[in-house]
Amino acid sequence: MASDSSSSEGFLTTRVDTVVNWARSNSLMPLPMGLSCCAIEMMAFAAPKYDVARFGSEAMRFSPRQADLMIVAGWVSYKMAHTIRRVWDQMADPKWCIAMGACASTGGMHRCYGVVQGCDNFLPVDVYIPGCPPRPEALIHALMDIQENVRNEYSVAQDGHFGKEMPAAAAARPRVLSSGGADVISPEGLYHQQ
Ligand code: SF4
Repeated sequence: MASDSSSSEGFLTTRVDTVVNWARSNSLMPLPMGLSCCAIEMMAFAAPKYDVARFGSEAMRFSPRQADLMIVAGWVSYKMAHTIRRVWDQMADPKWCIAMGACASTGGMHRCYGVVQGCDNFLPVDVYIPGCPPRPEALIHALMDIQENVRNEYSVAQDGHFGKEMPAAAAARPRVLSSGGADVISPEGLYHQQ
């Protein structure tokens, strides 16, 4: 944005993308997918001490239709993964995703048959937060990273990205196989499911 002081009336010049991105980045509405202990730190992130209202994201929403930022906090079982993906699909575009903590990002200490080894096997994660558990400050930092991404988005590029590149990116993610070698979760299949 720029203002011109040479005019007595004064005026402002900008681009639609800049205004839309400014508004979006300062009003991200998280959907808290709290699955285990990391969720406690996520609650602190919205509480008075850390006060995420400073970033416009204090309005946590439990309906996918009213949220645009999914925060996966905790380990994800295979059974739960399908539900999380369904909720994600019900969120309107544009939307973003944070994998909070070692478990959501990689499965963490839960190297077992029942836990998905990272929620990026079935979700397009934008920011990963290391730690067990990460501090609320780390979640605020991740939120600021998402805000930075949003401010640098361009509507035309975004249409191209979601329209063409996303399935290829999903296909490049590692598959999760059962001990028998069958696909348990195929990121590409999940992306295309109706
Ligand atoms: S990363 Fe640590 S605190 Fe977070 S869900 Fe896993 S075990 Fe719990």
